[in-house]
Amino acid sequence: MQLILKNVSKTYANGVKAIDNLSLEIGTGMFGLLGPNGAGKSSLMRTIATLQSPDSGSISFGDINVLKDQMSLRKLLGYLPQSFGVYPKMSAEKLLDYFALLKGVSSKSDRSKLVSEVLEITNLSEVRKKHVASYSGGMKQRFGIAQLLLNNPKLIIVDEPTAGLDPAERHRFLNVLREIGTNSTVIFSTHIVEDVKELCNEMAILNGGRILEHTTPEKATAAIKGQLWTKVIQRGTLEQMASQYTILSSNYNRDNTMNIRVHSAQKPGEDFLQSTPELDDVYFIALQKDENKLAATLVS
Ligand code: ADP
Repeated sequence: MQLILKNVSKTYANGVKAIDNLSLEIGTGMFGLLGPNGAGKSSLMRTIATLQSPDSGSISFGDINVLKDQMSLRKLLGYLPQSFGVYPKMSAEKLLDYFALLKGVSSKSDRSKLVSEVLEITNLSEVRKKHVASYSGGMKQRFGIAQLLLNNPKLIIVDEPTAGLDPAERHRFLNVLREIGTNSTVIFSTHIVEDVKELCNEMAILNGGRILEHTTPEKATAAIKGQLWTKVIQRGTLEQMASQYTILSSNYNRDNTMNIRVHSAQKPGEDFLQSTPELDDVYFIALQKDENKLAATLVS
């Protein structure tokens, strides 16, 4: 089912415009919403999840008018917020059974089957008897997915789920998402480019409440092929280089030198080596262009 947002805007009472005339279409599969802190990711997720209303615009999912018929959307929705709150001292199995009961699954054997299924998908079967309160951060996140899967959602929204997870937990979590992303629409927000690279077939870059690019990781990197250059420079010359070139990133070497990574349609100068585009480059280029545009409007 297609999620369609048209001209959605939201300004908070403090005057912050968190979503700025945003239009976006998202189909089945894993959709990555990539943006820095403060870009408006959570605001957008909460708005789609009907937890807050936009000031203007429209949102539809299949034939549901999301803003008018919130209950219909909620029946199809699985939402994992950034922080999931406090867990009672109850085993994962018991807690899921209880959630399933609340969701209206009255037959004990149906619940037991359902709970086993979601524990299996989220790789928590072995620790099903442990208290959720004692789970690690990654296990809690997977438990969050297990509980949202109980009502077989068609639209799944997960807000920055990998923030704070160690590499092994992050890997396990992404595997779980990969498994559930085939039959439903999964929107996954993150500020970690690698998450999107590993997981998503489609992506959008968000900044200042606006979509800077809606693309696929493959298309986005192909579009900047031949435009990435690296050079080793003396540390002291970084500022001068920055005034001459569009530097996307830089890192120190052990000696007195640095590597810089530059975006340029042509070879920028002597001693530059061409490099293969990465999704990080796509992200940094989009954010830099946006900053430059913003600076130009402030000057004019
Ligand atoms: P992200 O999830 O990308 O970090 P958010 O949607 O949380 O971005 O925030 C976007 C902007 O809106 C930020 O400037 C943030 O400070 C502001 N903001 C978020 N929630 C509220 C709120 N409830 N009231 C006022 N400002 C908010």
